[in-house]
Amino acid sequence: MCGIVGYVGKSAATPILIEGLRKLEYRGYDSAGIVTQSDHSLNVRKTVGRIANLQDLLAHEPLEGSIGISHTRWATHGAVNRENAHPHFDQSGRLALVHNGVIENYQKLRDELIEKGEIFYSQTDTEVVAHLIGRIFEKNGKRDRAGLIEAIRHALRQVIGTYGIAVIHADVPGVIIGARHGSPLVLGIGNGEHFLASDVSAIVPHTHDVVYLNDYDIVSLQEEGFEIDTLAGSGADYRISKVEFTAADISKGDYPHYMLKEIFEQPNSVRDAMRGRLSVEEATAKLGGLEMSNSELRSVERLVFSGCGTALHAGMVGEYLVESLAHIPTECEFASEFRYRNLPMTRDTLVFVITQSGETADTLAALRESRRKGHRTLGICNNVASSIARESDGGVYMHAGPEIGVAATKSFTAQLVIMNLLALLLGRIHHLSHADGLRMISELEKLPDLVAKTLEVNEQVRRIACKYARAKSFLFLGRQFNYPVAVEAALKLKETSYIAASGHPSAELKHGIIALVSPEVPSFFIAPEDAVFEKNLSNIEEVKARQGPVVAIGTEGNKSLARIADDVILIPEAPDYLTPILAVIPLQMLAYHTAVELGCDVDKPRNLAKSVTVE
Ligand code: GLU
Repeated sequence: MCGIVGYVGKSAATPILIEGLRKLEYRGYDSAGIVTQSDHSLNVRKTVGRIANLQDLLAHEPLEGSIGISHTRWATHGAVNRENAHPHFDQSGRLALVHNGVIENYQKLRDELIEKGEIFYSQTDTEVVAHLIGRIFEKNGKRDRAGLIEAIRHALRQVIGTYGIAVIHADVPGVIIGARHGSPLVLGIGNGEHFLASDVSAIVPHTHDVVYLNDYDIVSLQEEGFEIDTLAGSGADYRISKVEFTAADISKGDYPHYMLKEIFEQPNSVRDAMRGRLSVEEATAKLGGLEMSNSELRSVERLVFSGCGTALHAGMVGEYLVESLAHIPTECEFASEFRYRNLPMTRDTLVFVITQSGETADTLAALRESRRKGHRTLGICNNVASSIARESDGGVYMHAGPEIGVAATKSFTAQLVIMNLLALLLGRIHHLSHADGLRMISELEKLPDLVAKTLEVNEQVRRIACKYARAKSFLFLGRQFNYPVAVEAALKLKETSYIAASGHPSAELKHGIIALVSPEVPSFFIAPEDAVFEKNLSNIEEVKARQGPVVAIGTEGNKSLARIADDVILIPEAPDYLTPILAVIPLQMLAYHTAVELGCDVDKPRNLAKSVTVE
């Protein structure tokens, strides 16, 4: 995870780097560090904790220089302390490096280097890379840009694992070198200045011209220009892209937290996820990015969705949708298990991997395994030009806009829209009539307004959140399309509020979970007026009979829930297949308001980072 920002130009580097780190803080916030270069020397500041701590330190001990690199850490190897914070240095102390990723063979390399007399100051895997590069650089004796590039190339050949790195050397003034394998890096091209970052959001306040680096690329940045090559030296194939979003898109605006802002952006993100993808003429969905003809889609015999966390839950809804609307056998798999489970897949199995960031390491591994087995593998992701977008055989972008809150909200509902579009497209190829298709399109078109209407429950949900915020644990229950929503609701609450919560199919209650029911444990039932409403009602009765407090999410106009539940949150009426998109919204709000009530850091929950780029 972690965020890297580098700057070289005419301006003071520190404010630009700090501002960039703040934008990337969602990627990790255990510790932070910065190193700048001035007058042939490197100066470093590091702190444990948030970027704000680093800022405080810099206020007392400022750093000069118009070139520097910086890092916000999500620890994988070594405790969260100042010594392990990046940047790390080589033996000479003249080379500094920041790293995103994991060096799998670090122990072996470290032992070898210690044997040769190198002294280590941290427990990180990262420090070996700094030592390796520095050693080769010293040995080669070429103290210029070409010498540094050569040393980096040489060192990285010995490294097994994932990395996005940025390196500066006191003896090579005005130069930053970056390289990547498995962790993202983006180059920003300014006027007389250049940027390097893990994510464009750190660059976009300065320039919209960027190059998304490929795996095994090496880039060198100077004030006046940049050069990109491959680590093998075979010449890189790169393209300058324009970033579509603006700095305003990644600011909190008037909202106290990104999570709340992103919950409230859902009428638009849901609309954007389906924009231009509905064809009334053919009564179907158009997903050109799949790059598959209707006859190819027709020959798909089985579908596998794979993802992690929230994206996995979207795939679970997808499984219900595709099976019920298109009658294609579908499964949803943990991406982290996909390559170890060795799932038997028939020849005509189509695989979809789902990830907001497009950089999730477990999901990327699933994609690679699926492609290695020769399956057509498509990506559903939000970040344009991400690793998943580049390595898949095609796919669908969510168009949800930047999501900064660590707890995913609008990307989930965008994923659910895409699941509906897929079910419509495949359904129309198989069983759905023209009239069925048109009906579904008209329901989808109403969705953004229904989402906007659902947002009106915010104040009611805030009160309910305050009422239950001190409960030790929560249960979330739902059936059919809304069973995965129960699981997602539990995840949201755990992430933001650190309360034990679990989501289950309502009927599973009596098979064990009901033992947890007590006056101290609230049960949230997702019970819209759908095909399984009456069954949910009976399950609510079972909980009430055991003095369990019940909050029900039901359909507007429903009377029976109010008779038995302690609180009822009403969502607009919608067809069964769209209810997850509406039902999850009050549950996102519940997680948000509970966290605020408990004084938790909503946008940066403890131990988490947004794009999980380590396995
Ligand atoms: N593995 C490195 C560490 O633990 C980098 C982790 C990161 O990507 O933040 O310091």
